[in-house]
Amino acid sequence: MEHVENRVQEFEFVAEIKQLLDIIINSLYTHPEIFIRELISNSSDALHKIRFKRLTEPNILNPELELRIDITVDPETKLFKIEDTGIGMTKEEVISQIGTIAHSGTANFLKNLKKDSENFDINLIGKFGVGFYSVFMVTDEVTLETRSYIPDSSGVRWKSNGKEKYSIEEIDRPTRGTLIYFTLKDEYKEFAQPERVKEIIRKYSNFVDFPIYVNNEKVNTIDAIWRKKKDEVSREDIENFYKYLTGDDNPPLSYLHFSVEGNVNFNALLFIPDSPPSYYWRDFFDKTISLYSHKVFIQDDNPEILPEYLRFIRGVLDTDDLPLNISRETIQNSPLITKIKQILTNKILSHLEELAENEKEKYAKFTQNFGQIFKGGITIDSANRDRIINLLRYQSTTLPENEYTSLKDYVSRMKENQKSIYYVITDSRSSLSRNPNLEYFLKNNYEVLVMTDPIDSLIVPLIREYDGKPLKSIDKVDVEIQKETDGNERLDPETANKLFERMKSVLGDRVLNVQVSNRLVDSPVTLVAPYFGHDPQSEKIFKILDKNYQKSKKILEVNTAHPIIKNLAKLIDNSESDNIVEKIIEQLYYETLVLEGELEEPTELVKNMNEILQKFTELIGKS
Ligand code: ADP
Repeated sequence: MEHVENRVQEFEFVAEIKQLLDIIINSLYTHPEIFIRELISNSSDALHKIRFKRLTEPNILNPELELRIDITVDPETKLFKIEDTGIGMTKEEVISQIGTIAHSGTANFLKNLKKDSENFDINLIGKFGVGFYSVFMVTDEVTLETRSYIPDSSGVRWKSNGKEKYSIEEIDRPTRGTLIYFTLKDEYKEFAQPERVKEIIRKYSNFVDFPIYVNNEKVNTIDAIWRKKKDEVSREDIENFYKYLTGDDNPPLSYLHFSVEGNVNFNALLFIPDSPPSYYWRDFFDKTISLYSHKVFIQDDNPEILPEYLRFIRGVLDTDDLPLNISRETIQNSPLITKIKQILTNKILSHLEELAENEKEKYAKFTQNFGQIFKGGITIDSANRDRIINLLRYQSTTLPENEYTSLKDYVSRMKENQKSIYYVITDSRSSLSRNPNLEYFLKNNYEVLVMTDPIDSLIVPLIREYDGKPLKSIDKVDVEIQKETDGNERLDPETANKLFERMKSVLGDRVLNVQVSNRLVDSPVTLVAPYFGHDPQSEKIFKILDKNYQKSKKILEVNTAHPIIKNLAKLIDNSESDNIVEKIIEQLYYETLVLEGELEEPTELVKNMNEILQKFTELIGKS
């Protein structure tokens, strides 16, 4: 080996790293043991990489080395050492990988933390790859020695106290791979006990697919449990594997374990998580299924393996049909992956159909947690459109909160004279009580689907109809409403029209039209969207998506059986009350805006109301 100049260089950490180090040291103290998981995970990644390189590149350093992870601890000296025969790092790589935040997990973590540092749930930290830096929880100084797989690379030593600076020097290192060592702080000396370390490995890293040795004793199982027959694996093994794979502490909501033989051959073990996707999770929608070929890990971020709307699925897929020495790019576009995607989609949809039929509570949970993402399938998977629509579940005005109905069940409950499926889009169940447009439906016991996901505004127009029945928003003018026969006396049409003309002239182009309402019971007026317009909740979403979105003008509907309206009609011929009539019409209009949450500026409303109150108090004083 050629002699290398032993020159120590000092570097400063980039600013984010300093910040990250502080956060880690101050907040991870409740789970100090995760540093072991993080170090093992890095070693395992490095071993996956070299296993792949060994198959695809002719020239690598020490091709014969066994792929393994060795941990050595000494309770006397509190020394902790971990060494792998993985891909190693060049000097440049050490500087760029360990001294900066180049990788997505940590960068996202910091971004979220900055956005919302007060409400940040520290327990989520475990779900992130906080990575290498977590060692600074348990020690004051870390040394890393590494040598890249590139044949003429030289060894590098990196050393830091995790505060401001780190140093780097070239060293003689005979073999490929990475060694990390440090002395544990006194309060963490438990991690120098071999038994404690083994226990932690069994908990967090049991399924790492390289052997892990602690003081020369092999600890983990290295089972490809997805390759086993269904009845050979216990539920407990499956759940432990899920925890290992995802870092999620809850057992999965449900899983599918199957193998496919024929044109395409593979084994798969797939999970639906129990928890809603936390956007803090590392790469939640990018890393879905770990793809293995001949038991060798290939990649876990292939965007082609699942359609976007199923990317809440986690799991492993192992196929012998992919040649091992295939490049990442070729896998991305391979016809085999397209075929696998089709089969997976089909299997997952069948599984969801089964859940929906037989495990209603679980399916309700699925709808709550992943319904939003899943619905998006209607926009992209036209081949499975009908299956997806049948799998949709909605709340409804006749069901208790958080119970869901399918469109099919809704239709089976429709009233005899009912032609459409009624729905309302709202931001929450509780704001429904403010919507006067629901009055008719509630009073006459028509069931209305309650849609609360922002994406519903985009999805419903695509569903259009179910079982020949159109979906109609109760906030729009064209929803069919049977004429009222409640015996309440209404204004005669002539008087009503005169009043409407007056209202139009007061409100001008703020409304599209003024017309009689059949949907109101207790309220005097309401706004409804015209035939080609959108309900208010959808308009809010469109406005968020497109700043220049122009809201459509609304139609003012008037309840001609309401006492205020009847009284108002009597006043309009009297020129003395001109001014107050105008104020009252304005006031009624403002109220509709308030109910829709559309009144940005209350000054006019208050001024108007005060003028009405002044008039009212004068009148009372006179009488
Ligand atoms: P992450 O694992 O989330 O990428 P880390 O801070 O743990 O973040 O590691 C940063 C990078 O350093 C890794 O992405 C990898 O490139 C490199 N690295 C860390 N540990 C090892 C190792 N044992 N062998 C080779 N490279 C490593």
